Amino acid sequence: MSERIGQPAERRVLVVEDERTIAESVAARLRTEGFAVEIARDGPTAVSMAERIRPDLVVLDIMLPGFDGLEVCRRIQAERPVPVLMLTARDDETDLLVGLAVGADDYLTKPFSLRELAARVHALLRRVERAAAFAHEDQRTIRLGDLEINQAERRVRRNGIEVHLTPTEFDLLVHLASRPRAVLPRERLLAEVWGWPEGCGTRTVDSHIKGLRRKLGADLIRTVHGVGYALEVRQ
Ligand code: CA
Repeated sequence: MSERIGQPAERRVLVVEDERTIAESVAARLRTEGFAVEIARDGPTAVSMAERIRPDLVVLDIMLPGFDGLEVCRRIQAERPVPVLMLTARDDETDLLVGLAVGADDYLTKPFSLRELAARVHALLRRVERAAAFAHEDQRTIRLGDLEINQAERRVRRNGIEVHLTPTEFDLLVHLASRPRAVLPRERLLAEVWGWPEGCGTRTVDSHIKGLRRKLGADLIRTVHGVGYALEVRQ
């Protein structure tokens, strides 16, 4: 990766897709949007490339040779949190829920338009960058019972043990923890955390809540049926 002197570094996108025509058209479109793009065509290459080029975002197909996109997502998220836009071959709910649970932030079902893909990539980066800017302003560490959220460093501990969260899980947890015990409707969480319009994708919220419970303990977040979620605090 060469960086031109005097210019801001280009944002890097790693495209992981074994179907050559899709990979190349996605890469070409993202290059015209000003991104530096690299392509990986199988699971193991994707993981090593993500370590090497440290992308700002990963576009990740689920069906891949080597190991699949879900395993790629697990491994790259374990290394360092990075926003992931997952591509699914069909509207397969199982793939989708597992994908969101292993740390994908958003998904697109094939076939998709390149315009839609570019819009999702920009939206996801805007959200992550806005969250980072917000965290920079608000350096306060939230302490609720045995839960500690260090916003400046984007680190979370429960019972003194550090828990690794994806960028979306972290933002969702901060939203819930900023108003402990308040019931936050799914639509509001979608609008505030994801920046999505009301009425779409509420099961995305459910899947990320599932991820938070798996990592932080099932007792932390209460479901209010038909409404949303609330963070419970034991002092
Ligand atoms: Ca594929």
